[in-house]
Amino acid sequence: MSDIIRNWRHIPQRYNLIGTKCTTCGKVYFPPRVICPECRRNGKLESIQFKGTGKIHSFSIVRTSTEDFKTIAPYPVAIIELDEGAKLTSQIVDADINTIEIGDQVEMVFRKIREDGENGVISYGFKFKISK
Ligand SMILES: [Zn+2]
Repeated sequence: MSDIIRNWRHIPQRYNLIGTKCTTCGKVYFPPRVICPECRRNGKLESIQFKGTGKIHSFSIVRTSTEDFKTIAPYPVAIIELDEGAKLTSQIVDADINTIEIGDQVEMVFRKIREDGENGVISYGFKFKISK
């Protein structure tokens, strides 16, 4: 295995928005890829850290939820197009579900994802909020 692949495993993806950029065609990917699907063996991939800003490409309102999210439904989940070009899916926090719109500017925030019962272990990760 190459150094790049090994290093990816040690980058805390939940805390940093790390993806890959193909320096051959300029496309960016999230989550990180090992091979550029456009360039295949001619692609040259390097890690990049996204700024964490972008806009809402599309979204839906989740009204039924899993146990973890029971207290916060309904909540929006959006496909976000990062300023660098990659797309990812994330929950939108602090949003008014009646006014959220495609094209809204968003920025990454760190939020509690879940609290694991008795142990009280709290997991944090990235979500997005509307920044306009
Ligand atoms: Zn490429």
